Amino acid sequence: MPDTTKSPIIHPVVATPQAQLKRKRESVDLTQAALRQRAEATASAADDVSGDPSQPAAGEDRERKIEDEELDSDEDSMFEDALDEIELNPFVPEDDHDEESFSEAAAETLRARLREIGVEEFFKETINIRPRKLGTAFGIDPQWGQMPEEFYLRILGLAVVRAYNKRQKLSEFNTIDDAANLLQKCRNIMIVTGAGISTSLGIPDFRSKETGFYEKVRQLGYSEGEDVFNIENFDHDPTMFYTLAGDILPDLKRYSPTHAFIRMVQDKGRLQTNYTQNIDNLEQLAGIEKERLIQCHGSFATASCRKCKYQVDGHEIFAAIRSQQVAYCKECIKKIATAQTSPAKPTKKRKTKPKNDYEDSDSDPADTIPQPGVMKPDITFFGEQLPTTFFDRFTEHDSQTVDLVLVIGTSLKVAPVSEMPNYLPHHVPHVYISREPIHHVNFDIQLLGDCDHVVFELARRAGWVLEHEMIPRGFGVTVAEVAESGHRWAIRPVMANAD
Ligand SMILES: [Zn+2]
Repeated sequence: MPDTTKSPIIHPVVATPQAQLKRKRESVDLTQAALRQRAEATASAADDVSGDPSQPAAGEDRERKIEDEELDSDEDSMFEDALDEIELNPFVPEDDHDEESFSEAAAETLRARLREIGVEEFFKETINIRPRKLGTAFGIDPQWGQMPEEFYLRILGLAVVRAYNKRQKLSEFNTIDDAANLLQKCRNIMIVTGAGISTSLGIPDFRSKETGFYEKVRQLGYSEGEDVFNIENFDHDPTMFYTLAGDILPDLKRYSPTHAFIRMVQDKGRLQTNYTQNIDNLEQLAGIEKERLIQCHGSFATASCRKCKYQVDGHEIFAAIRSQQVAYCKECIKKIATAQTSPAKPTKKRKTKPKNDYEDSDSDPADTIPQPGVMKPDITFFGEQLPTTFFDRFTEHDSQTVDLVLVIGTSLKVAPVSEMPNYLPHHVPHVYISREPIHHVNFDIQLLGDCDHVVFELARRAGWVLEHEMIPRGFGVTVAEVAESGHRWAIRPVMANAD
């Protein structure tokens, strides 16, 4: 059993990627500086990742890495954040014969060599290449960072390890029919979903520029939309959350065609797990079985007391949220009432308190005037751990057995979900369904368009019929290759009455 409690994860549900992406932490420390020591310095990291290059990490290593050992050092996360930025906006050499950088072709050759021989050997082989030039093969601008060389070396080390773990596109899967065949054939399908599967219902993505929840929060004068979901803020003063959360309560009575599609995959006995980043809880409404559903960022389905952990059905606090009143814990209130009506027994009372409840120490005024705890929906806030079920399910179960991955309606910019493709065995096919293409993760097939339309067509080609009130009779799509990519396809609806 992995002990996920050992590794606190800072929850990325609503953070900016730069602030919150806490990735695998194989910190390859190259600060010993001398180039001669590069190989040595990376040896420990290489131990984790060397071996069969097509299977970069065995279950336990994967687990350890994706869990993210420790947030022991702000410095480490600073380097990871910097690398996230680099990965999303990689350096591309302008001139193929530049002395300072590798051409794209040469860079690909180097990366292929890395995948072939592993991190440790790679650093030995490239020992004579200037670090700033080597970095260009991994997307790092040679001008990057006006800072000491040791910082550059550290970034380079991290970039190389990341590149080694990075998933490669499988050449045999390219078209929408390939995707449909996989859908038909595979029996243990993992579906990863994000905001895009709910937008057709009018639920705005938190992050969208004009209609997003965060933008609204900012317009109300808060510096960051994400502050609403900061656990420290909440514990300090829950009124901000209770004033604003009415807007994001999941009170919809219908789900999207994409939710119906996931349900259909389940009904056909092929859904292994649906990992959703959404907190709208529509997966449950659509009938996705609890044991197949991982709500990576929690949900409003339940709420818990911040003091005594007493848990209630989420709906019990909806009225309070709608009326912008802080909800307090009934259990705490009951206990306080009982304590007040019975004769005071201060010593006994002190004994019943949890040993580690520093907040309620004897010097605390709350000791004399007991306060009930505040109820918080069980959505994961910043500063809280992700549900342990996420890691348990992924590392113990899914990473070993999944035979197809569908990623739908998410740009995969937020860890740890963004890291999942890199930690599955690399022979597992990955299909991406969303409006915009994705570049920082290598998918085999990208189907670009409204997810509702794409999954309808995918199901149709698999020989299934996706029925949903939002799909009009006679609905159809066109499929067109995007820019001779060979594996990116634009799926557009054709009006039913066009015939
Ligand atoms: Zn309580």
